[in-house]
Amino acid sequence: MYAFPRYSPLATSYCLILLLATLSCSKQEAPLYQEQILALGALVDISLWGVKPEAARQAADAITADFNRIHTTWHAWKPSELTRINAQLVTGHAFSVNPEMIPLLVRAHALSQASDHLFNPAIGQLLARWGFQGDEPKGPPPDPAVISALISQHPTLDDVVIEGDHLRSTNRAVQLDVGAIGQGYAVDVAIAHLRKLGVENAMVNASGDIRVIGRHGNRPWRIGIRDPRGSGILASIELQGDESIVTSGTYERYFDYAGKRYHHIIDPRTGYPAQGTLSVTVLASDTATADAASTALVVAGTKDWHRIARAMGIKQAMLIDDHGTVHIDPVLAKRIRFETTPAPKIELSPPL
Ligand code: ADP
Ligand code: MG
Repeated sequence: MYAFPRYSPLATSYCLILLLATLSCSKQEAPLYQEQILALGALVDISLWGVKPEAARQAADAITADFNRIHTTWHAWKPSELTRINAQLVTGHAFSVNPEMIPLLVRAHALSQASDHLFNPAIGQLLARWGFQGDEPKGPPPDPAVISALISQHPTLDDVVIEGDHLRSTNRAVQLDVGAIGQGYAVDVAIAHLRKLGVENAMVNASGDIRVIGRHGNRPWRIGIRDPRGSGILASIELQGDESIVTSGTYERYFDYAGKRYHHIIDPRTGYPAQGTLSVTVLASDTATADAASTALVVAGTKDWHRIARAMGIKQAMLIDDHGTVHIDPVLAKRIRFETTPAPKIELSPPL
């Protein structure tokens, strides 16, 4: 997938989208409008229920524009408003930014703090050194001395002072990268826009960052969750009303170098790709929160996912570890349906 400069092999994404589509439109009732847009490289599935075709097309165009605008504003390595901000942060001086960018920064800061900064959108320098701010990361991994120098400066959003529409950083190592929350944020913006246009039943799926409102006709929306160890569906779940589901996986973007695989979710404490987790799925009422939390829980791993989920206000989550064991809270366990045979090994956690 792409958009918020998170790319993954297109073939895999198409495969996932096809599988999701199979699940979501198995009954093709008439008033379902579906469109897949490529918003500057991002595969976004839009499904609208009960909207006349012309109005549906216009709504899809409107949210395509939202995705494109957000994408160009926040791009981490092509010249964008974000790259301009990053160039100014190193000076330590205050500078003005597009006021539309403030809400995402404020949101990201709160989520970063709640996650003990395991979700840390201030580690842009580290991500750049790993090559994950580029179209095709391929290694080699950075020099260990470079990694330890970067992490010893502890850049976090706590260092970024927001005063009105002015920003300044008290730590010159701060470089922003919203790759772990931007896609979810864009989905929230799209859903708010659809609502404004009078749409009451919709699903927006930006390469696995999904939010639904209302219902798919007389039934809930049905979502497939990818098996992190294969190309099929691990589980399915029904969502309705207003819910988001996001999966972050270490298979989404990676490179192989000298016989080792390095994926794109970096543990800010070590400076290296997070260990021990294949994927995390989080449900929340908004997609930005679910997106940030899914990344944080990949970093937190089997030992800390439950504590960090609680701290971030997450009530439903599932982590799949390196061995394929599913660690899941009781509420999500009750509503999810595993589709593989045999079913995976499940470790039920205390309630979140
Ligand atoms: P995906 O849905 O592709 O699995 P995520 O939402 O987990 O993606 O975001 C991964 C992206 O976020 C990376 O490509 C990188 O740009 C950025 N990132 C990596 N590690 C972190 C981290 N610990 N905190 C915040 N952002 C991160
Ligand atoms: Mg994320």
